[in-house]
Amino acid sequence: MGKIAVLDDNLVNMIAAGEVIERPASVVKELMENSIDAGARRIVVQVEQGGRDLIRVSDDGCGIAFEDLPLAFEPHATSKIRTSEDLLRISTMGFRGEALASIAAVSRLVMVSRPADSIQAGRMEIDCGQKSPPVPAAGPVGTTVEVRHLFYKLPARRKFLRSANTEMTHVVEQFTRIALAYPELELVLEHGGRTVYSLRAGQLLAERIGILFPSAVAEDLLEVRRQEKAITIQALLGRPDRARTSSSYQYIFLNRRFIRDKFILHAFKEAYRGLIEPQKHPVVFLFLQMPPELFDVNVHPTKTEVRFENANWVYSQVLSALRDKLLSTELPTAGTVPASAASFHAEDPLEELLQKDRESRIRQAMDDFFQSHSAGTAVQKKLPFSPVPPADWKPLKPTEGEESKDQSGPLACLQIHNSYLVLSTEDGFEVIDQHALHERILYERLRAAAAAGPLASQRLLVPVILDVSDAQLDALKRAASLVGKLGIEWDMFGPRSIAVHSFPVLLEGVSVEEYIQDMLDAFLDKGSDVDEEQLLAEVLERAACRAAVKAGQPLTPAEIEQLLADRKLAETPGRCPHGRPTSLVFTLKELEKQFKRTGF
Ligand code: ADP
Ligand code: MG
Repeated sequence: MGKIAVLDDNLVNMIAAGEVIERPASVVKELMENSIDAGARRIVVQVEQGGRDLIRVSDDGCGIAFEDLPLAFEPHATSKIRTSEDLLRISTMGFRGEALASIAAVSRLVMVSRPADSIQAGRMEIDCGQKSPPVPAAGPVGTTVEVRHLFYKLPARRKFLRSANTEMTHVVEQFTRIALAYPELELVLEHGGRTVYSLRAGQLLAERIGILFPSAVAEDLLEVRRQEKAITIQALLGRPDRARTSSSYQYIFLNRRFIRDKFILHAFKEAYRGLIEPQKHPVVFLFLQMPPELFDVNVHPTKTEVRFENANWVYSQVLSALRDKLLSTELPTAGTVPASAASFHAEDPLEELLQKDRESRIRQAMDDFFQSHSAGTAVQKKLPFSPVPPADWKPLKPTEGEESKDQSGPLACLQIHNSYLVLSTEDGFEVIDQHALHERILYERLRAAAAAGPLASQRLLVPVILDVSDAQLDALKRAASLVGKLGIEWDMFGPRSIAVHSFPVLLEGVSVEEYIQDMLDAFLDKGSDVDEEQLLAEVLERAACRAAVKAGQPLTPAEIEQLLADRKLAETPGRCPHGRPTSLVFTLKELEKQFKRTGF
C-alpha cells in the first residue's frame, strides 16, 4: 500500500492559516483588505481583548451573493483573478483566495453579507472548518465578519498569543497601515466598546497622521512629490531634528500596500546622511505607485515583501527624490555629522561596506595629516588642504598615578572635525569617536546607578506635557515599575497627554520631552515580551546617547581631558552601547605600510 495521500481541505486550510494568520492583527488585516477590495467606503473594526476574544469587521461594500457564500470559504476560491495573466497585474489587495478559508479553519466565524441588489442577507457559520449551510438573515448591504476565539482548538498556537494589550498594539499597527494608505475611507476602530480611532472619509494624509501618531512624529512634515516615467513618489518626511531613536516611524507603501523593503529603508538612511546623527532614524511615510508588471507581490503569503524588476532603479529614484527635498529645504539640524560617520550594524552588508569606507576615509585623513605635519622633513608636496594649525593640539597632563608611556613629550590629543579625538599611543595612535566613547561612559554610570536603586530624580519646576498615542500610554502603564526605577513621576493630563513631574538628575541637560519619547519608543519596540532588565538596558542606552556629546561638537581641552580620564574608569570602554567600536588603533607598522603605498 502506498503511503502518500492528498490532505483533506480542512487540514490544508489549517496549514495555510499557519502562514497567513499569526495573530489577531493578521485577521484584522485580511478582513479589512477584503472590505477594501469589495469597494467599501466605510469599515468598522471592533475587537475585544486585543482580538483574542472577538474581531468584527463590518463594511458597506458589494457584499457576496447568497449562492457564493460557501464558496468564499473554499481554499483558493477568489473573485479577484481568473487566469495566470491576471497574476501579472494584480490591482486588488487579495488574490490568493486563502484568507477566509484559513481564518475559518482556526476560529468560530460568522459572516453576514448582502449585495446591493438583494432584499435580504445571507448568514454563514463555520466552526473550525465545520461549515453550516447558509441561511437567509436580516442585515444591511455589505458584509460583516465576526471571528471569535482565534486558535481555540489549537492550544499550541493559542499559547503564542500575547496579552490583550500587546495584541492590541499589533491590531492598531495594522489598522494604521490601512488608514495611511486609504485616507478616502471612513475607518473606525473600537476596543472593548471604546473608540480608539474614528477617522473621517477624505481626510488629508497629514491630518490623519496627526491623529494616528504623537505630535513629535506628525508635526511639520515635508512633502515630496515626484513623477518619473513609471514611478510616482509621494512622501511625507520628518525634519532631521525630529529624527527618532526608533525605526518604527518608517512606512513604505507600494500601490497602497504596506511593504517592507530593506533596500528602500537604506535609501531613507542615505537621504538623511549627514543631516541626522548616524544612530537615529528619520520619520518617513513613503507612497510609491508603479505599474504592477514592474514588481511581483506573489513572493510571500502575507504579501509584505515584493520583488522589484529593477530594485536599483527604485532605490535611486527614492533616494534622489528624498535627498533633493531635504537639501533644498532650510533645516535646523541637530549636530551635523560628517558624511563619513556612518553608523555600523554588522548584520547589514551595505552598512559593512559603508563602515569600511569610513575607516578608509579616516586612514586617508590621517595620512594627509601626517604628510602635512612632517612636511619639513619629508618630501615637500603640495597639499590639497591647509595644514591644521598647531593651536588645535591640546596638551594633556598624564592622569595622576600613571606615567605617560610616551617618553617623547607630554601626551597630546587632537580633536579633528569636531568629532574624533586623535591620541598618540606607545606604538602608534588611536582615533576615538567622541560621541561613542562618551555614550559608553554615561551608559556605564547610569547602569551602576540604576542597579543601586531608583535613579535620583529632581522635581521639575513646571511639569512637561506630552502627547502620547494609546499604544504608548498602554506601554507606559505596563512598564510602571521600570519607569519608577528611572526616577520619573508622571500622571494623566487629558485623554491623550501625560504630565511629567520629575526626571533623573543624571540626565540633566537632556530634553525631557525627547527622553520620554525615546523611552516610549523603546517600550513599543521591545513589546512587553522582554524582561525588565533588558528593557532597562535599552532605555539607558538611549538616555546615554541623548546625553552624550555629539559628533560635530567642539570640545575644550578640559573636556577632552575629562573624557579621557573617565574612559579609564569606565568598565568596557572599547564599545559603545550599540556595539560599535569607540576607537580605532593604528600602529606605526601599519602607518609605515600606508606611507609606502602612497609613495613615501
Ligand atoms: P481573496 O481576498 O484572496 O480573494 P479571501 O479568502 O480573502 O480571498 O476571500 C475570498 C472571496 O470572498 C473574495 O475573493 C471575495 O469574492 C469574497 N469576499 C471576502 N470578503 C468580502 C467582503 N468583505 N465583501 C465582499 N466580498 C468578500
Ligand atoms: Mg482576501
